[in-house]
Amino acid sequence: MRESDILVLGGGPAGGAVAIGLSRLGYRVTLVSEPRPFDAVEGISERVIQGMQGAGFGFALSAMAEPSPRQVTWNGVTNAANTERLVTRQRFDQALLLDLARQGVQVIQGRIQSCHAMKTGYQAEVALSAGGQEQIYGDFLVEARGRAAPAAGVPRIKGTQTVSLLQYWQGAHAVPCTAVQSFADGWAWLAMRADGRRYLQLTLDVASVALPPKRQLGDWCRERLQQLEQAQPFIEGAEPVGEVYARTSTPVLCEQSAGHNWIRVGDAAMAVDPLSGNGIFQALSSALQAPAVVNTLIRHPERAELARQFHEARIEGLFYRFARIGRDFYAQESQWPDTPFWQARRQWPDRQPMHLEITPDQVTTAMRPVVQDGVIIEAPVVVTPDQPLGIWHLNGLPLAPLLDAIRSEPGTLPAAVLARTVGIDKGALLAQWMQQQRWV
Ligand code: FAD
Repeated sequence: MRESDILVLGGGPAGGAVAIGLSRLGYRVTLVSEPRPFDAVEGISERVIQGMQGAGFGFALSAMAEPSPRQVTWNGVTNAANTERLVTRQRFDQALLLDLARQGVQVIQGRIQSCHAMKTGYQAEVALSAGGQEQIYGDFLVEARGRAAPAAGVPRIKGTQTVSLLQYWQGAHAVPCTAVQSFADGWAWLAMRADGRRYLQLTLDVASVALPPKRQLGDWCRERLQQLEQAQPFIEGAEPVGEVYARTSTPVLCEQSAGHNWIRVGDAAMAVDPLSGNGIFQALSSALQAPAVVNTLIRHPERAELARQFHEARIEGLFYRFARIGRDFYAQESQWPDTPFWQARRQWPDRQPMHLEITPDQVTTAMRPVVQDGVIIEAPVVVTPDQPLGIWHLNGLPLAPLLDAIRSEPGTLPAAVLARTVGIDKGALLAQWMQQQRWV
């Protein structure tokens, strides 16, 4: 049996980022993954590139196309100001495995058939892609199998049930581009690659759309696409190829995402609607600080509860932030206020505005978990209604003691109080910034 300190299940962006992070912290990491079973193309924005560079995804980045134009038709208005990069996921994920191997992670390609908790650690049974079986043991388990991760017994919060139907079309070579268009009972994401391959995806409400039997699904999608104005350049001179692939895209949050010797990251911990096109970004966001959580759980068991709370609060915070961004975007579409698709999504997950009005009396300082030198510690932070996890530093300056100092001298100008600690120039700038944030 192969043994390691850390066993990572799933080699997408989340599993990959955690595996590299833990390998950099000196752990022996084994990651098991198989390629996703279908050919998916996804779009990412430029800000994700920076996160990937930091995560060590050199080969994976080189598998990505140059930015291509993106046209969005929403609420009857067309906007063509943005770009996105198309990622062919099978190619990207394969390149990511090369990044992992190059950075010291033991990569096993195969299907995880089962994984059991042992007296200490976890043991996975793997059907190897190259043939044969292997048992792999890890003292600590990272669950990163995305939406496919088993979740029996895990309490979960779910949004409105949503499905995305992906139909491949093939036409002549073309200039790569993407488009989004809303319609009465959903929205479409349309992508064209340089080789003429088109990925045409319809996202729909599971409860209210009567889908035909599987064998008629291809014709059904074709008819729907033919009615969409934005789809015309993608289907003209092209033909559907192969089966329609259905992906569940219901938002889901696991209410428990860490224990003393396991952690869930990426879509295995929380996944939102593909509307935001932020899935890879979120997967990375949830994974980049996970190595510090795991490191604390292993090396500082006395702070295990703090580390667990930190991870779960971050996952929950990310989930609601992206869910509310999605809700507000859905709410901008007002052409079909009465159809179930739009009605349900414009009010989920809640009514809380994305940006809360802040008044100084709502801003407090408190001890909260933060990441320092690869571990979770507790430090004083500034807590606001918008930032319940707290803000620790700004340009290297710890903010909570500075805010406390200002508040201890109510009759003195904030800039004058800060000048004593950080100097006149920095003090003036910081006081101005705190006033803009409505902290003082
Ligand atoms: P994944 O990327 O899903 O990685 C999990 C890995 O584990 C996969 O390689 C899988 O094959 C492997 N695995 C699973 N089970 C097993 C097993 N039993 N044995 C071995 N290996 C296994 N995000 C964007 O940024 N842009 C988009 O345009 C976009 N479009 C989307 C459209 C749809 C319809 C959906 C559903 C999602 C979309 N996303 C998009 C979201 C994005 O795909 C995910 O959020 C992101 O890939 C999550 O990363 P992850 O590492 O958590 O999981």
